[in-house]
Amino acid sequence: NHDIFELIKKEEERQCQGVELIASENYVSQDVLSAAGSILTNKYAEGYPNKRYYGGCEVVDEIESIAINRLKQLFNVEYANVQPHSGSQANSAVYLACLKPGDKILGFDLSHGGHLTHGSPVNFSGKLYKPYFYGVSKESGLIDYEQMRQVAVSEKPQMIICGASAYSRDWDYSFFRKVADEVGALLLADISHPSGLIAKGLLQDPVMLCDIITSTTHKTLRGPRGGVIMMGKDFKNPLGYKNKKGDLKMMSTILDSAVFPGSQGGPLEHIIAAKAVAFGEATSDNFFQYMWQVKKNASHFTNGLVNLGYDVVSRGTDNHCFLIDLRSKNITGKDAEFALGQVDVTVNKNMVPFDTQSPFVTSGIRIGTPAITTRGLIEKDIESIVGFIDEALYLHKKNKSVKILRDRVNKMMVKFPIFKL
Ligand code: PLP
Repeated sequence: NHDIFELIKKEEERQCQGVELIASENYVSQDVLSAAGSILTNKYAEGYPNKRYYGGCEVVDEIESIAINRLKQLFNVEYANVQPHSGSQANSAVYLACLKPGDKILGFDLSHGGHLTHGSPVNFSGKLYKPYFYGVSKESGLIDYEQMRQVAVSEKPQMIICGASAYSRDWDYSFFRKVADEVGALLLADISHPSGLIAKGLLQDPVMLCDIITSTTHKTLRGPRGGVIMMGKDFKNPLGYKNKKGDLKMMSTILDSAVFPGSQGGPLEHIIAAKAVAFGEATSDNFFQYMWQVKKNASHFTNGLVNLGYDVVSRGTDNHCFLIDLRSKNITGKDAEFALGQVDVTVNKNMVPFDTQSPFVTSGIRIGTPAITTRGLIEKDIESIVGFIDEALYLHKKNKSVKILRDRVNKMMVKFPIFKL
């Protein structure tokens, strides 16, 4: 095991010395880390609090109930399931609960910023269900709501999904609600990326407008890797059981069964404990300040890049992330990811809308500010990072040594320790 612990140490060093700009990553607190690495990992607890298939669950019952209650409070929802092992598991449970194989789903195109689980042909969601897509307008980079409505009206999908992995603007959930009502579709909001911002009121809230909400817990929410499913107060009879009393209760049971035993076995109680810790942290005022800074840093970042002639998709951001279309800079996403990696700036290559490259090469990179903001970086530091990015891409093109630049990056980042939360 020595090898593994040596490698964990090496990864810790990598995380400390670099600039982490992957939009879906973050640094959790020591408390989240302690709970995730706790002896709760030893416990089997199939079922739900007070309804388990194993003995000795009294303690984990209390922990899971706290996690559920904190999540309900954080998002002001009536129903919460904290067991999904990941965001994909949360979505698969919702589909299992609400759709039949062959049903139609309408999601945001992966190549425009959507997620695999929203109908991609390489994912179960595109294999088991019949996927249709909406996308962004070529001119503005903004969601083409009319096009979404047209597909919905002509195809009449059973479910419409809003949410993305790489979209920098807010969502008009009320427009989606109207379209879903018009065609009789269930409306799912997958808020995996912006959930922390939504929880703190910094983006539109889908809870009252969408039937079901899923999220990951490890992105802007800054918890352990995992997923959740929620339903709001204004429940909309998603399965069409009209005017029946107790719909929320019935749908809660259906969703719970779709997670366990429908698509998962024993819950990860150590991760559920870490989720509870993170939800507790997210209820604090400090977390509001954090999310506020994430947003400020992201928009400062886009301004800095635009001023240097970079093509930011939709020309800005409302949230924590954005895409840079590098075609005007004559470098692919793949090469840019490599060039930035050479100076310890970590990003991921990403398709941009109407991309001309394959998903393995891509024309863009995605950037997010949740992780660097957790480390305490503010606007002036963002300006330094914009400079590092521009210089690294220049040095790469000119085939010049990046050593001095990498030292500067590392020197800056040691001033922002990762374990200060
Ligand atoms: N949904 C969206 C919108 C996402 O961005 C992601 C992750 O990137 C997921 C679902 C899936 O989450 P996970 O990687 O935890 O399965």
